[in-house]
Amino acid sequence: MSKQILILPGDGIGPEIMAEAVKVLELVNDKYSLGFELSFDELGGAAYEKYGVPLADETLERARAADAILLGAVGGPQWDKIEPALRPERGLLKIRSQLGLFANLRPAILYPQLAEASSLKPEVVSGLDILIVRELTGGIYFGQPRETLVLEDGQRMAYDTLPYSESEISRIARVGFDMARVRGKKLCSVDKANVLASSQLWRTVVMEVAKDYPDVELSHMYVDNAAMQLVRAPKQFDVMVTDNLFGDILSDEASMLTGSIGMLPSASLDANNKGMYEPCHGSAPDIAGQGIANPLATILSVSMLLRYSFNLSEAAAAIEQAVSLVLDQGLRTGDIYSPGMTKVGTAAMGDAVVAALRNL
Ligand code: NAD
Repeated sequence: MSKQILILPGDGIGPEIMAEAVKVLELVNDKYSLGFELSFDELGGAAYEKYGVPLADETLERARAADAILLGAVGGPQWDKIEPALRPERGLLKIRSQLGLFANLRPAILYPQLAEASSLKPEVVSGLDILIVRELTGGIYFGQPRETLVLEDGQRMAYDTLPYSESEISRIARVGFDMARVRGKKLCSVDKANVLASSQLWRTVVMEVAKDYPDVELSHMYVDNAAMQLVRAPKQFDVMVTDNLFGDILSDEASMLTGSIGMLPSASLDANNKGMYEPCHGSAPDIAGQGIANPLATILSVSMLLRYSFNLSEAAAAIEQAVSLVLDQGLRTGDIYSPGMTKVGTAAMGDAVVAALRNL
């Protein structure tokens, strides 16, 4: 039976980087006879322009029916002034929560060819390969009540709520343990259990789940220390599991260790490993339309799609190898460029990956 992949290019550089990822996806589809059928729709600002909303009901239905979704990025200044409920980012939050995509996997891998592009010393980051598992559909980004109000003395006050249920914590902890089991067998759970009640429950539940994973070494770290350790000695980590807010911040921090956010893919999975795959970066309006964006994060998202939703590790590894070969050839988009390398645009980078993959 054919497998349906829904492609949502999005806004800004989204369509440019997606065009390259689709070339790669079409090639692996042929090369490994995968039987994928691709279909296309809109999300974010592009959906607002076409349907009047950032996620149309029919698009959501298509996403539900698909076996996997590949997304570019959403957002842009032209939609900053529209009603908050219609902004592009709302489409993204809605599709994640409606599809129950609670587990966000963000690998931070430093390609040895790019060690010089990191802001840290090469010896601190060379060989870096960590995976951050972030809870994506709960916590403070979704917690109710939340409001801004006016106090009796006339000043404004605002508050948010950070709720986590036992089942939300245990299911993301299990993803963390499962990932650690097939990697370096080390899981670090990040919380703020010295201050937050939600973190105290988080730590208790993670320790309970750990009983099912005696082969995985579990440690706990407060988030402030984790932020420090990530820049001090990032290679001490294998898999980190954390909540929505902490994961948002730590995964962006980890991404910079690798030189450029333009290199980093991500996966967001539901309980059955159905997933949405996207680069970690946004729609980069500052460089949109210039043909200079780095498409490698989106191309590597195709690799994650093959690995996590379809268990196609050979085809996934081939894409990663092709990316590595292209970096060996010295090809660099502007964000990862260093003197002596060959600067290329988005399409030339995509074509080079396709050529390398074809020859493997
Ligand atoms: P951004 O990630 O879009 O850009 C940050 C910086 O990184 C910019 O200088 C940009 O040029 C650069 N950059 C990003 N991707 C790149 C690539 N592939 N190649 C080369 N350079 C790249 O973040 P931002 O500027 O904070 O946000 C811009 C828009 O994207 C906003 O509307 C924001 O809401 C949205 N956004 C969307 C997502 C998403 O779709 N998942 C994530 C983050 C931000």
